[in-house]
Amino acid sequence: MSEFDLIYRYFFKDANQRKDVELGIGDDCALLTMPPQSLLAVSTDTLVSGVHFFPDVDPFTLGHKALAVNISDLAAMGADPAWVSLAITLPEANEPWVKAFAEGFLALADYYGMQLVGGDTTKGPLSVTVTVHGHVPIGQALTRGQAKAGDWIYVTGAPGEAAFGLNLLQGAITCEVSDELSAHCISRLQQPTPRVAIGTALRGLASSCIDISDGLAQDLGHILNACQCGADIHLDQLPLNSGILEATSFDQACQLALTGGDDYELLFTVPQEKKGLVDQLASHHSVAINCIGRLTSAKSGLTLKLNEQAYPLDLAGWDHFSDEK
Ligand code: ADP
Ligand code: MG
Repeated sequence: MSEFDLIYRYFFKDANQRKDVELGIGDDCALLTMPPQSLLAVSTDTLVSGVHFFPDVDPFTLGHKALAVNISDLAAMGADPAWVSLAITLPEANEPWVKAFAEGFLALADYYGMQLVGGDTTKGPLSVTVTVHGHVPIGQALTRGQAKAGDWIYVTGAPGEAAFGLNLLQGAITCEVSDELSAHCISRLQQPTPRVAIGTALRGLASSCIDISDGLAQDLGHILNACQCGADIHLDQLPLNSGILEATSFDQACQLALTGGDDYELLFTVPQEKKGLVDQLASHHSVAINCIGRLTSAKSGLTLKLNEQAYPLDLAGWDHFSDEK
């Protein structure tokens, strides 16, 4: 069986999942219907074996992650996920591998009601390129550049967990770590959860939003550049994982939370007059949503504070994983 036959067998299932798919896989293009008064949101990410994932990674979790990191971009835009295409390069026609990859990929697509509508299959070194398409009502997309000094800074989840998971897999953690903490952090690394429901709920509330793929501090830097603001981050308000805190030190846990990549949490800003609504939203959500600081008019970028005082913390201090990117 060729690579294409395998893809055909495991990926091309139900052709009629979404009513807005006029024509799915099988022709030269897919034909898709957009809802009225909305904009198409499109994003692509490539994962290359040996660069973005270990060559021997479990194919089910790779299928999940390849799609999850893309859906996370839709979430960060406040878009509703709709369609996906998949370009995959395979070194060989490995049936169990393709089957498990497809299961991980399609389970997540189904969860978000997305339909695979096309792609490309080639032979070569293993790599996966996913393009997602979603839609967002005109004027309601969550961009990076609309925030102002005085807006509050929020983050979902507990950033740093994925990087801790990566450090565990790389054998860089020498202290005692419980099986539970280890399994949790590795699963945050390998099977991140795109924060779609929070992203769409933030339409009309957040003044900017980004998903954290390269570390909180670096991704916040993109917002600061786009809005010409500075920021105070209060380390005592960072949602640190208590197990990581116990296994490392306060400084190291903060470094991980601020510089660790691969979290796929949302980082967003909220103007003062919308803060109450966001705090209310946060109290109803099962995922933690925490206010960690505020945008300032300072030109000095990011200032870290502890108990209202500037706190010296070396953000290059924990970078075992920086070569991975
Ligand atoms: P073409 O020569 O027009 O590029 P292909 O033989 O590459 O056609 O693909 C045939 C059909 O299968 C197209 O509709 C294409 O979108 C779809 N397809 C190919 N590979 C994949 C894949 N990995 N995932 C999803 N759809 C795919
Ligand atoms: Mg083709």
